[in-house]
Amino acid sequence: MIPLLLALSCAGSSKGGDSASETDGGETQTDGGGTTAGPLEVDVLVIGSGPAGLSAAWEADQAGARVLVVERDEKPGGAGHYARHLIGVGTRFQDEAGVVDNADQLMMEWPAISNGGSATDPWVQALANDSDDVLHWLVDELGGTFEGMMNDTSAGQTRRVHSIGFGTLGPVEGLVLAVGDLVWTSTEATALRFDPEDPSRVAGAFVRDLNTGEDLEVIARSTVIATGGFARDFDRVRDARPELEGALLVYEAKPSSDGGGHALLEEAGADFQNMENHGLYLNGTYDPRTGLGEEGVLLGQLMFSVIADLEGNRVGDESQVLLFSQVDLLAEAPDKRLFAVFAESDFNALALTSMADSFGLGDGTTLTPSELMRLGGAVRATDIDGVRTLTPIDADGLQATLNRYGELAATGVDSDFGKQGTALRTVLYPLVFVELAAGSAKSFGGARLDEQARVLDADGAVIPGLYAAGEAAGMLGTPATGQGFGGSVTACYLTGRVAGRSAAAAE
Ligand SMILES: Cc1cc2nc3c(=O)[nH]c(=O)nc-3n(C[C@H](O)[C@H](O)[C@H](O)COP(=O)(O)OP(=O)(O)OC[C@H]3O[C@@H](n4cnc5c(N)ncnc54)[C@H](O)[C@@H]3O)c2cc1C
Repeated sequence: MIPLLLALSCAGSSKGGDSASETDGGETQTDGGGTTAGPLEVDVLVIGSGPAGLSAAWEADQAGARVLVVERDEKPGGAGHYARHLIGVGTRFQDEAGVVDNADQLMMEWPAISNGGSATDPWVQALANDSDDVLHWLVDELGGTFEGMMNDTSAGQTRRVHSIGFGTLGPVEGLVLAVGDLVWTSTEATALRFDPEDPSRVAGAFVRDLNTGEDLEVIARSTVIATGGFARDFDRVRDARPELEGALLVYEAKPSSDGGGHALLEEAGADFQNMENHGLYLNGTYDPRTGLGEEGVLLGQLMFSVIADLEGNRVGDESQVLLFSQVDLLAEAPDKRLFAVFAESDFNALALTSMADSFGLGDGTTLTPSELMRLGGAVRATDIDGVRTLTPIDADGLQATLNRYGELAATGVDSDFGKQGTALRTVLYPLVFVELAAGSAKSFGGARLDEQARVLDADGAVIPGLYAAGEAAGMLGTPATGQGFGGSVTACYLTGRVAGRSAAAAE
């Protein structure tokens, strides 16, 4: 049999092998019956290599710790490859653009950003004070490129959502290059390891080589859980948002966002918070190639549609679909069903983003509007009789809505919902109808942390040896996030850095 350490090293890195040491070359049986080699000893074990995990690894490595990162995907970076919009407060990019912003400004806006969250939370203050360091670090230290800045209404009125890229990828690629050699890919943490002499202390994990099925016991002084969110665990999502029971739900997250890390945290007795603030968008539908309730398709220019319920009533400002609050419209709609109604020319011009295509889950072909229609994900009606026969929508109600919408468009003022600009324009036959889904995108619920990113139990006590960061910790480890918080990945880098430093410093 190939020594497991070698197999894992081949899958990932040489440095992982160098910085970790095998304490015992023998093999034992795990409870599950698999073969266990090792154990292997490191100072800091990081589980998950997204923005949070790699930030933790970078800091721990800088502090001189022996670090191992295990990642079950075939490549490191997690969902960070897609995330290039980052919240940043008081950055030099803002200074250069003449944007006035500072920690006080963010904290003043925080209740609006977070749907009532408290700005006094230490993690919110850390974000307010240190997000500029995070962005400067990504650019200056890790080679990211600042590409521009925008005002994100879901993140307050100040222009503070920065676009930072690394070529075609997100800034996490800079971390992949910097510490990717600490990562063992195709390696999954299957269970935490508890110290035999002090079973309350987390002391590493059992990891499995997904290529060979072999298990390895990793002994670590500190263990950081950075496994991302639970957007694909619909049981948790439905627990978080029971009012959406019966509504169409789709995934808008990476396949690994399955909540597996939450199960590891549960195993250690972690306390969870903010689970009800799950990030769902009303910006897409299901991919008819993958079946109902599975992969999502983002509809792009939804602002050109009229969003109507089964009675044909318009329900809100269609240009606001990137606010998490818009999904409440679906929860409140009759039978929890809503439809985007497009003029055919606008439907044909949609730039669709299919999750299956983005994550390599599809058949390699790109989903186009005509393909969506051909597969039954959209329906075309040339007149009101078509609406009556082809859709479940009340055709007369819809006609009255479209007439009213046309009148508003003629005046240029949407006195019903406040939609502005060119998106407010008459929607004429032929019409195309697409049923909207709640798209499960981000978790704002996770492990409760102290200020050093140590995981707390239900009594508020520190679980020795255990740290968490990123979406696994609800991004900030605070109950303050939820409503909008555009560019939230900054919080993943921030908590990751804090966790890495603390984990390396632990005795
Ligand atoms: C298409 C898309 C676009 C996005 N755009 C933005 C944006 O512009 N701005 C923004 O703020 N946010 C954005 N996000 C969200 C952002 O990417 C995530 O919030 C962020 O990546 C979370 O970072 P993380 O490190 O906590 O987790 P992740 O990036 O999810 O990484 C967790 C890693 O842990 C691994 N893992 C899980 N369980 C195990 C295990 N048991 N053992 C080993 N490894 C494990 C996973 O494979 C994964 O690689 C976007 C997300 C998507 C999907």
